[in-house]
Amino acid sequence: MDSAEFAAAMARRDCVSDGKNYCGLYRGFPFVVTFARGATNGLTAFVLRLQFSAPPGKLFRELKKRLNGVVRLQKLNMANNLFFATVTIAATQPFETTFDRLIAETVNTSAAMGFSIPDACPICKNPGCDAYAFVGVSYRPVHIACVRAQNYDARSKVQKNEMSGNYITGIIGAIIGSVIGAVPTVLLAVYGEIISGWLCALIPLGAYYGYKLLRGKLNKATLAVVIVVSLIMAPVTQFFVELFWSVKEGYGVFAVSDYLSYVFAVPGEVMPNMLLYLLFIAIGFVVVFRIVKTTNTAILQQSSFSEATLRMMRPQQFPAQTQPAQLDPLQQYPAQQYPAQAQPAQTQPAQQNPVQQYPEQAQPVADGPAPREQSSTE
Ligand SMILES: [Zn+2]
Repeated sequence: MDSAEFAAAMARRDCVSDGKNYCGLYRGFPFVVTFARGATNGLTAFVLRLQFSAPPGKLFRELKKRLNGVVRLQKLNMANNLFFATVTIAATQPFETTFDRLIAETVNTSAAMGFSIPDACPICKNPGCDAYAFVGVSYRPVHIACVRAQNYDARSKVQKNEMSGNYITGIIGAIIGSVIGAVPTVLLAVYGEIISGWLCALIPLGAYYGYKLLRGKLNKATLAVVIVVSLIMAPVTQFFVELFWSVKEGYGVFAVSDYLSYVFAVPGEVMPNMLLYLLFIAIGFVVVFRIVKTTNTAILQQSSFSEATLRMMRPQQFPAQTQPAQLDPLQQYPAQQYPAQAQPAQTQPAQQNPVQQYPEQAQPVADGPAPREQSSTE
């Protein structure tokens, strides 16, 4: 299966996509899948992300056991209560039925084991969610008003930045920010005589926040400014390390020109450390790259995707916390949980065509003016 076939299969399940992430709902349970690999040997691999209200490590192990021989599950990360794993479906398995079985098994097993999706909105941290939306990295319960207010704020900031953003002030900010970011590196090098790679990451990070704070335009130029300023900071950092060290050891201060003639006279003395700073700043840059590459375009894309995934939540979708876990969730969970689906209580939900069930899950949220009264971020 290739990415286009994958996209079509997800569209049949009423998923909303930004071309990369597919957000779907199965019986009120939000999930995100991302196509990872296909075509070779006919197998299909994708990343599955589910947001729970507790660490889902136990659930992962149980699912791995239950789905043994059906799909291959590989854990990626279970931090922040996020179930984050790669799923591989072999060429010998029919993709669509296997996918539906995976999702159904996941939802039913998690309910049987007492795992629930969060009931607090990630934006205002309050319960009483009325919809689902893609926020951060996961599809989860939210307040429509919170998502709209947050995206409205993001869009206004982008608009303001586009209109009044200035490269000159941005570059000045990047220089000031990177100097502040270099202070911990200098202090540790002088007093601890250690060059720390982690602290060096603060130099490009400082450059980025300085650029942003002094209203530099957030586009592809941001990256270039941060890289250039950070690289220049390698010799500058070293100069200050030598200067402070000289003062600390009682040799007093020296001029930049003296330092330069010293560097050119005995480059072998200075170069190894200089290269180390360069290397550490480069590594630091990789560490903070995800933050630095956030451009206006990316922010706009994120906020419009987040709104496109908004789906109304049905009031009866949350099980009462006191409900005992069902021993055979495949038989009992759906019928009890969702009486509004208008099915005879005795039908066997596992035999229904799951594709038909997806579209009934929830309605897209109708467009409307962004309610501003919920915004507390100003
Ligand atoms: Zn909220």
